[in-house]
Amino acid sequence: MEKKPFDQLGLSPDILKAVEKMGFEEASPIQTAVIPVALTGKDVIGMSSTGSGKTAAFAIPAIERADPKTRAVQVLILCPTRELAVQVAEETGKLASFKRGIAGVPIYGGQSYERQFRALHQGVQIVIGTPGRVMDHMERGTLKLDALKIVILDEADRMLDMGFREDIEKILTSVPETRQMLFFSATMPRAIQDLIGRYAKDPAWIKIESVAQNRPQVEQTYFEVDRRSKIEALTRLIDVNDFRYGIIFCSTKIMVDELDEHLHARGYATDRLHGDISQSQRDRVMAKFRERKFEFLVATDVAARGLDVDDLEVVFNFDLPNDAEDYTHRIGRTGRAGRKGLAFTFVSGQEIYKLQSMVRWARLDIRRGRIPSLDEVEEARTSVFFDKIRATLDDKKFKPHDRMIDRLLDQGYVSTDICSALIHLLQGGAPGNPTAATPAAAAPVTDAAPAPASPARAEAKSAPAWVKSRAVPKPAADDASPSAEPVDGEGEPEVRPRTGRDPGKATLFFNVGRKELVTPADLVGKIAGVTRLPAGVVGAIDIHQRHSLVDVDAHEADFILKKIAGIRIKGVTIAPARATDGAPR
Ligand code: AMP
Repeated sequence: MEKKPFDQLGLSPDILKAVEKMGFEEASPIQTAVIPVALTGKDVIGMSSTGSGKTAAFAIPAIERADPKTRAVQVLILCPTRELAVQVAEETGKLASFKRGIAGVPIYGGQSYERQFRALHQGVQIVIGTPGRVMDHMERGTLKLDALKIVILDEADRMLDMGFREDIEKILTSVPETRQMLFFSATMPRAIQDLIGRYAKDPAWIKIESVAQNRPQVEQTYFEVDRRSKIEALTRLIDVNDFRYGIIFCSTKIMVDELDEHLHARGYATDRLHGDISQSQRDRVMAKFRERKFEFLVATDVAARGLDVDDLEVVFNFDLPNDAEDYTHRIGRTGRAGRKGLAFTFVSGQEIYKLQSMVRWARLDIRRGRIPSLDEVEEARTSVFFDKIRATLDDKKFKPHDRMIDRLLDQGYVSTDICSALIHLLQGGAPGNPTAATPAAAAPVTDAAPAPASPARAEAKSAPAWVKSRAVPKPAADDASPSAEPVDGEGEPEVRPRTGRDPGKATLFFNVGRKELVTPADLVGKIAGVTRLPAGVVGAIDIHQRHSLVDVDAHEADFILKKIAGIRIKGVTIAPARATDGAPR
């Protein structure tokens, strides 16, 4: 379905200004196809339904062809209902707003004749009306159609269904023979074909399927989020729904790179696709995605075009797409094979207006959603964790540790306390600290630093166990703590504590630590979020009881210090500093 810019359709500057003001970026397929033909004066049969932009497709050529110097009625638009007549009149009015001397009036049943007489008497070029009321005015002599150049039937099939056939035929037989006819209908039943056969002259047939008709079964939700909170919102939605397979669309390559890095830093198995990635690399990424070797593909529209995956659980519009057509393409990747899909769209600030226009334009059925609270995320995690424990018990997929348990029981501990202590350790709690990791801290934790090229990340990409670990965060690194050991023997990613000075890195001191339940993901997320630097600038991280040491790229250290000073992490106002060799380690 071809779409062209409006300035390639042979339109006057007045119309171009109007469509620009209305926020239309390019002509829709029906507009692209109909406008140039209708401008030549030829009859047109347009098959397309509401939501395709058909109103502007017929109103624009009608306005262009009307002569502002003559105040006689030159265009008659017939609509089935008064609501539609009013809507069409409004849109036509906006499109004609820069055309000096062009005026229009809606005439429909239920409105006082007086007002309509007055408007008709003053002289208008365009009349938009329901067939019954138009007939009335013609019979009363208040509507003269002898100068009529164009007659337009909007939603002709509906007009026939509503019993207007006789009125329409009377109107069509009493207008000049020379008039152009533009005829729009979503369907083409026999009666409509008869009407066309009798009243249209060698018409051009233009058929366009509306985006609305192609829409798959997808439950669509949008979230109004601050630009800076998008990543947090995204991860919460992923966690609460326990999504494991989806695409996250961004509008730029830079955003794709950044988001991929951030998600990695937070422990999600992701990969990326965009136009700067070589074809062979793209093929590899795609093959891995189809085999579900990672969970989320972060991509631009262009890169994801022609992507043949169709069993996605979810599509995220991390950035709002450009138009309704891209939106429909994106969300069409979920909800296939008879299953209902999910599409989550983020809008920030003014973007809500763009979304509203897309909703009207493509008749989207989208509802507003709420980002889950941290408590809800935690609850969801707990239930995933609970299910994992139960599945492990049911499948007997564990080595017995009877000796250790017997020893604890012998020492007088009860079994429920022993289990609770183990869960506490598993959920990131430290010995002596009664509170387990908070949900924010529980945001997918790996103690591995998020440098993209790190072995830990490379392993993460291919290690399914690591993928699973996101629901059960790994304990914070603590040399002295038993929790630094891999807890389930599933091959957790390599922990990368700070081991010594890396000449390319500078070490920063942060006055927040395990006491505040801070995690590497919190630190990386904050640094990357506040500075907008890729998460890869952060290297190894040591979290201590009351402070943390974070390695960052040396040449960014001052910038990071400046940006991060005064912000809050876990309720603590950060006063960062360069760590000297004497800094507490
Ligand atoms: P219609 O199919 O004429 O009922 O149009 C549906 C909605 O799409 C209306 O709100 C129009 O204002 C809007 N619309 C029409 N043409 C365009 C366009 N080229 N770009 C964006 N929105 C449009």
